[in-house]
Amino acid sequence: MKDHPQDFSKLGEQTKAVHAGEFPDPVTGASSPNLVMSTTFVVDADTTFSVEGMGEDDPFVYTRWGNPTIRQLEEKLAVLEDAETAVVFASGMSAATALLLHTLKAGDRAVISDVAYAAVAEATNELFPGLGIVITKVDTSDPDALAAAVTPGVKLVYIETPCNPLLRITDIGAAAETAHKAGARLAVDSTFATPVATKPLRLGADFVIHSLTKYIGGHGDALGGVLLGKAADLVPLRKRTSIRLGGTISPFNAWLILRGLATLPLRMKAHEENALKVARYLETNPKVTRVIYPGLPSHLQHDLAKRQMKNFSGMISFQTGRGKETARRLAEKLRIIHYAVSLGHHRSLIFYLHTEELLATSFKLATQKQLDSWKAFAGDGIFRLSVGLEDADDLIADLEQALK
Ligand SMILES: *Cc1c(COP(=O)(O)O)cnc(C)c1O
Repeated sequence: MKDHPQDFSKLGEQTKAVHAGEFPDPVTGASSPNLVMSTTFVVDADTTFSVEGMGEDDPFVYTRWGNPTIRQLEEKLAVLEDAETAVVFASGMSAATALLLHTLKAGDRAVISDVAYAAVAEATNELFPGLGIVITKVDTSDPDALAAAVTPGVKLVYIETPCNPLLRITDIGAAAETAHKAGARLAVDSTFATPVATKPLRLGADFVIHSLTKYIGGHGDALGGVLLGKAADLVPLRKRTSIRLGGTISPFNAWLILRGLATLPLRMKAHEENALKVARYLETNPKVTRVIYPGLPSHLQHDLAKRQMKNFSGMISFQTGRGKETARRLAEKLRIIHYAVSLGHHRSLIFYLHTEELLATSFKLATQKQLDSWKAFAGDGIFRLSVGLEDADDLIADLEQALK
């Protein structure tokens, strides 16, 4: 397989998104990337049967080890994130758990965002402590709380910014400094930001995680995940976790995501423009008591958002008086916006997250300070609105009629 056909570092983001990692098929001249569904590849008799001695550029052997379509997606993602290398997985959770299993073993300590993607929160409440890994959860958007938790001996600091569903922001550069001072590595779940808004590796992070299911794929039709970072970390990680644990993405999903990714910078501009219009509208709706959007001056961390994010993305959280009741009304009355989980698609999606339920199942906040911070952002519950690519006026009209 050819390397990057050219040096992309001086090209614009949209050119990278279209061309990086892809090249015309050398046999047929096909301009768009080949979808290679083959699980196995014809090899020569000297090919080894273990991945132990496998090099990153060795010929393809078996799709769980590597596949031409998946490889093209990995190369495009690495260029867009400014990373040495990328390992793509079957889902965002597969990427996140692979990272935790690769970097932590029994007796090790990790510090994790107290509000992170629900499945990350739940896995680090149960599965990982059950393996003897000591997990401390803190509000990583509070630099003092983070510094107090990251004591020498901590191996990994894992943050999510903006975090799901509060849209609270963690200062990545400051978190990297805190982690590295204690000898820990920093991992950033950048799913909400995308490489268009933030490039955490440039700010000092060691690993970046994305759920490709969200903005990067962008069309709600394929699950996927990725880990990005240095080759020295990810080459062994690929063998120890991706290949041996087996969270391999289908080449078909990789191909769909590759196609979606080509328009990511354009889509993020449109998501941001739409979200800002919808957020401003929601601030004027008397039924809405609180709007959280990093691009609004009313966001508690708007200054940090402006400094850290080149694009405020398309995620809005908002509160209304009686959340559950409003949720029922919206699920029934919305005509354009789908009442559904997930986010980052071209279709607008909305879902209600009830504080009491979430705190009992996912976010077991330990201190009054953590609870207070949750309440400051979420109150008794919030609507998470993923603003899609429809016309903003239509989305506003849809919300207006359903909230009435
Ligand atoms: C969706 C999501 C994940 C998990 O990704 P899947 O592809 O659903 O496994 C992880 N982190 C964040 C922030 C997410 O939104």
